[in-house]
Amino acid sequence: MTDRNKPNMMRKMKGLMLTHMHRMITCREFEDFVLSYLDNELTGKQKSIFELHLRLCRECREYLAAYRRSMEIGRAVLPSPDDPLPADVPEDLITAILESRGA
Ligand SMILES: [Zn+2]
Repeated sequence: MTDRNKPNMMRKMKGLMLTHMHRMITCREFEDFVLSYLDNELTGKQKSIFELHLRLCRECREYLAAYRRSMEIGRAVLPSPDDPLPADVPEDLITAILESRGA
């Protein structure tokens, strides 16, 4: 083992320890939390667990960034009827959007 690899190894070990000792979430669970996190639906405790994982896991940071981007693009191109509309959208604009979508 070279000295260059050692810190990486230590980080992996630390990650494993945290996972087992502090009821941390896995990357899979992280993915399940992403939508609620972006919608601000997590409790304070869930949010801190989520953000802890986010700090420790680069892959999930990238996942979240990509998710955010695709959500923003998706919303800009095609507003979903399930998305809560901003309060300041005029009602005839909503009607016009709905009519243009054939709803
Ligand atoms: Zn992760």
